[in-house]
Amino acid sequence: MAAVEFQHIEKVYANGVRALSDVNLGIADGELMVFVGPSGCGKSTLLRILAGLEQPTQGNLIIDGRDAARLTPQERNVAMVFQDYALYPNMTVRGNLEFPLRMRRCSRAEMSARITRIAELLGMAELLDRLPKQLSGGQRQRVAMGRALVREPTVFLLDEPLSNLDAKLRVQVRAEIGELQRRMQATMVYVTHDQVEAMTLGDRIAVLNKGALQQVAPPKELYDRPANVFVAGFIGNPPMNLFPTRLTLDATGRLRVTLGNESLAVPGEPGTYQHLNRWVEQPLMGGIRPEGLALAPEGMAGFRATLAEAEYLGHETLLHLRTAAGDAANRAIALVARLQGMHAFVKGSSICLQVDMSQLYLFENTGAALPQRGAAGTDAVALGSTPRREA
Ligand code: ADP
Repeated sequence: MAAVEFQHIEKVYANGVRALSDVNLGIADGELMVFVGPSGCGKSTLLRILAGLEQPTQGNLIIDGRDAARLTPQERNVAMVFQDYALYPNMTVRGNLEFPLRMRRCSRAEMSARITRIAELLGMAELLDRLPKQLSGGQRQRVAMGRALVREPTVFLLDEPLSNLDAKLRVQVRAEIGELQRRMQATMVYVTHDQVEAMTLGDRIAVLNKGALQQVAPPKELYDRPANVFVAGFIGNPPMNLFPTRLTLDATGRLRVTLGNESLAVPGEPGTYQHLNRWVEQPLMGGIRPEGLALAPEGMAGFRATLAEAEYLGHETLLHLRTAAGDAANRAIALVARLQGMHAFVKGSSICLQVDMSQLYLFENTGAALPQRGAAGTDAVALGSTPRREA
């Protein structure tokens, strides 16, 4: 297996579509990297460049320390599994697995040894003599992976490999792919538009939008410290609540955050958030994850919102709410709150909520996250941790 490095990769298609802009990304040997982003963001183009199916307009691709532009496809030895599996229908599973090895003029003994090993690894020894049409969707998917793996590629690429499976099977095969990758220590790149798939599978996730890399980080870091508004809104389901906001300082020097007509006090001693002073009274974006909203306990202060819809999911209840509308600058804000367990509410009722201020995110109007207190980097939560806890 091998490490991969994209250096300043740019791709403009012949029709003028700019699919990738200045992508810089390193993938470690043995790492499972997921490319995720909405449809059309350029993830397949990046994967196809790695596979050698497309040439970058600019930039370099380094595979295993060598410039890929100078490698033949054989030398590149990158294997790809496609969405539709592309199995040969009139060949048995064994025939399908043998095919890439025959192309490489592998000896009979070597071929047989590799197929036995892969069949065992993928738990499909008893399927070797069947035709693809005699297999279930999940089994076909496994054969397609086996056919890629049997070549012992330096890098293993999967392009939305689960999209033809039903939801239940998808979860199962996803777990199998993760397990297989760990066992084989394979360098694997996995493309999906599904952020849940990305979050459950990746060692690291590269988030793309409009051809530009937004953030590359392990799942938890993407969730806890989104670098910008796009990542904040894309990772997480239901997505983070995003709303226009302003920071203000009250007479005592305390920081407050606006949410529609409300002004919420940021906990902590005056001066705790001095690093945010330069953004006071600037137009900003605020973000609160659905679990950062809670019902205000009886008799406690909170802010009111009207219930538009409730989804009772058994283990949790999702409330779709709207804050009161104020003047033109303070339009009603739609919020989703996630509550543990079942809660019965009447549609249209007014609900008193609290914001867990430790889970409040702030972004500049350009989309970039405001820096964390004391941190030099910008890829952080502004209020990140509860000041009371830190004091
Ligand atoms: P994704 O995989 O994230 O859905 P793609 O990499 O397939 O995105 O596409 C990125 C952009 O490039 C899209 O705007 C798409 O329409 C365009 N594109 C993809 N392939 C081609 C092609 N062969 N010729 C022209 N434009 C293309």
